[in-house]
Amino acid sequence: MSFYARLRAGWVADNPALTFRGTTLTYGDLIARVERAAGWLIGQGMSAGDVLMLQTPRSLAFLEVHLAALSLGVVTLPLNPAYTEAELAFYRADSGAKRAVLIGGGDVSAESLPAALAAAAPVSRSVSLPGSHPALLCYTSGTTGRPKGAVITHDNLTGTVLALHTAWRWSRSDVLLHALPLFHIHGLIVAQHGALYAGAATRWMERFEPADALEQMAESTVFMGVPTFYHRILALPPAITADLSGMRLLTSGSAPLPAQVHAALQARFGQRILERYGMTEAGIVLSNPYDGERRPGAVGFPLPGFSVRLVDAETGLVVSDGAVGEIQIQGPGVIPGYLNLPEQTAAAFCDGWLRSGDLARRDADGYIRIVGRAKDLIITGGLNVYPVEVERILLEHPAVSAVAVVGIPDEEWGERVVAAVIRAPDAEVVPDALIALARQHLAPYKCPRAVRLVDDFPRNAMGKVQKARLRAAWIA
Ligand code: AMP
Repeated sequence: MSFYARLRAGWVADNPALTFRGTTLTYGDLIARVERAAGWLIGQGMSAGDVLMLQTPRSLAFLEVHLAALSLGVVTLPLNPAYTEAELAFYRADSGAKRAVLIGGGDVSAESLPAALAAAAPVSRSVSLPGSHPALLCYTSGTTGRPKGAVITHDNLTGTVLALHTAWRWSRSDVLLHALPLFHIHGLIVAQHGALYAGAATRWMERFEPADALEQMAESTVFMGVPTFYHRILALPPAITADLSGMRLLTSGSAPLPAQVHAALQARFGQRILERYGMTEAGIVLSNPYDGERRPGAVGFPLPGFSVRLVDAETGLVVSDGAVGEIQIQGPGVIPGYLNLPEQTAAAFCDGWLRSGDLARRDADGYIRIVGRAKDLIITGGLNVYPVEVERILLEHPAVSAVAVVGIPDEEWGERVVAAVIRAPDAEVVPDALIALARQHLAPYKCPRAVRLVDDFPRNAMGKVQKARLRAAWIA
């Protein structure tokens, strides 16, 4: 069964599916549009197994074509609108895509797509596909090294969406406020497919804008964000407020949520953010409980069907509670591998467990905390420093809005810990005060040797800080 057939099974034709730019489509409308998009795809010569590059601004056409592709077994390769020609050329060559819908170019321009879809003859064909059939090709963020195409199967989508459906209590009466990009698993699978599987309503924002989001949250039940979103909401003047008592779920992921942000959101809006952890290659793996304590600074427990072990990098042994180990994952969201990269695929697994490259420790009562990335480790004078630990301390200073700690090369120590800091609006802080704060809480070798005030960090499309670029800028 295609994943699309699973989605459709729960749809009520007259219920609202999607509201965007003042127009609401019912599920019945959506089905009709997906059938036209299927006709268009067939007209483009696409069939099961072919890859379609899809780069559009946020648009109904994107969702229609993607859903039609799922129904036919065509593999969607969603792309960030910000990609350069060189990046697109890489993805085309690497993926072997048969057709490319691109902004301002490609075989079909994204601008002409809506008219082409409207003119297509509808096709309602149910294609029978094995669960192992690829559904999506998602290139991993590429913050390190060459981007790799993660092959996400129909079973992977089902596994991820079903686990979250139960764990987060999705229902048909939910209203999802959606502001995340659709070209990434967070916005596409976790948020959009989560809502579609439940037969719930989705409201798209054109882009995330904090005051508008707050206003719309008052009429929604679910919101999914990256920490930057919450940060920006909290930076709004206190006079801007909203009644969020009708919301039942605000989630955060893709990057660590500072415990201070969790606390501030609760204090100001009475909402406890539910933080979860996942990655393109595995779906969502760990989540704070829906009922029970949504613990700040922790990402909770394995979702139903997922298993996690924490493994010591040197010994390869599972660590005991409280010790740091790499998160390794098994579960229905774990991809079979990277496209055409058998060696990288083999290297990504250890005895059948997916290696995440993320470091975590488990509290005595089972909650897991992310403490850094294996690649994001600073070694100074032979001692390991986890940047997240230093960042958490500096974030406690009221004048600090965001912080990124990196290691820069140092003749004597190998690496030296430094911190780039974004000040809170209108706040003043001197670097020495931050170094002093770190010294109060951390062993001296972990404390930044230098602190620089910056306006922003280099970030990737998901808002994640690109530490390699930050490091390079610091040294330059
Ligand atoms: P991506 O494949 O782009 O979704 O990136 C996955 C990576 O994002 C993970 O390997 C983590 O390093 C990071 N990540 C996701 N969720 C969290 C979280 N809640 N806390 C810290 N890091 C996270």
